[in-house]
Amino acid sequence: MDQIKIFAPASVANVSCGFDVLGFCLDPVGDEMLIRKTNASGVKITKIEGQNLPLDVKKNVAGVAAEALLKAHPTQSGFEIEIHKKIKAGSGIGSSAASAAGAVFGINELLGKPYTAHELIAFAMEGEGLASGSAHADNVAPVLMGGITLVRSINPVDVIQLPTPKALTAVILHPKIELKTMHAREIIKKNVTMEKAIQQWGNLGAFVSALFNEDYDLMSRSLKDEIVEPMRSLLIPEFESLKKASIDAGALGFGISGSGPSVYALTKGIDSAQKISNAINKVISSIGIDFEIHISKINEQGIKILTN
Ligand code: ADP
Repeated sequence: MDQIKIFAPASVANVSCGFDVLGFCLDPVGDEMLIRKTNASGVKITKIEGQNLPLDVKKNVAGVAAEALLKAHPTQSGFEIEIHKKIKAGSGIGSSAASAAGAVFGINELLGKPYTAHELIAFAMEGEGLASGSAHADNVAPVLMGGITLVRSINPVDVIQLPTPKALTAVILHPKIELKTMHAREIIKKNVTMEKAIQQWGNLGAFVSALFNEDYDLMSRSLKDEIVEPMRSLLIPEFESLKKASIDAGALGFGISGSGPSVYALTKGIDSAQKISNAINKVISSIGIDFEIHISKINEQGIKILTN
C-alpha cells in the first residue's frame, strides 16, 4: 500500500467537568487527508485546500506530528501529505488535532502499523504543541482511539477509552467569531479553591460512572464546570441564553468546546438533538452572527480509512 485516504474527524475537548482531560470524537464533521509513501526521504505537505495554512512542515501541525513519528521510527521512505480542510482552524472543535492525528494515523498505516492508536497519541501531541504552545491530548486522543476518552496523564501518556452510551448525541454550535486561544487562556485564573476542586472531581467521577451505567440523569447532574466556564463563557456571545435554551429543550449538559468559540450540548437521541438545534438556532439568529450547527453521534471509531 503506497497511499491512503482518510477522514480525520473534529472533536470536543474540555468537556465541562473534564477540563483538559475529557474529550469525544464527532462524526459528520472533519477533514480529508491523502498520504502517500514516496522514495524521497522526509515529510512534505504538498497541498492544503479549504484553509489558508502553512505548507511548511515545521509550521503545520500535520508536519510536526509526522516528523515526531519518523524520528522514533526511521525509514528510507518519505511521505507526502494533502489536507482538505473542512474544519476551520481556531473554531474550538479540534481543527489542528484532526490534522496532527490524521498525519500519524496515515503514516502508521503505510508503515504496516508499528504503533497502536494509544502510542500514536504522543506523536500527535507534538503537533498540538505547535498549535497551542503546550502539548495536550484531549482532542487527539478521541480522534485516534475513537469515542470518549479520559487523559489520566500526558507524561507518560495514559489515556482511557470510556464507554459510549448508545443514544448519546452532540449538538455543536460554531459561532463564526474570532476568539484567540491566547485570550481564552489568559482569562483563566491560575488557582482553584478547594471547594471548587471538590465539586469538579465529584462531577468528573460521577460522569465517568454515568457513562458506564448509561445513566442519563447522572450525566445531566454531573456535566457541570464551576471552574473555567464562568470566566471563558464571558467571551462567547449569548452563552447563558444559549445554555438555558439548550437545557430547556432537553440537553443533559451544555458547555464550551475546546477553548471556544464553539459550544456543545449533549443529549439523549436524535429527536432531542434536533429540538436543541432549533432552540439554539433561534437564539443565535437573533444576534446576527454567522454560524453553523452540527448534530453528531459520538464517533466510536475515530479516524476512518476512505480508500487506499
Ligand atoms: P481549534 O480551536 O479548532 O482546535 P486549534 O487552536 O487547535 O484549533 O488550532 C489552530 C491553530 O493551529 C491555528 O493557529 C493554525 O494556524 C494552526 N495550525 C497549523 N497547522 C494546522 C492544521 N493543519 N490544521 C489546523 N490548524 C493548524
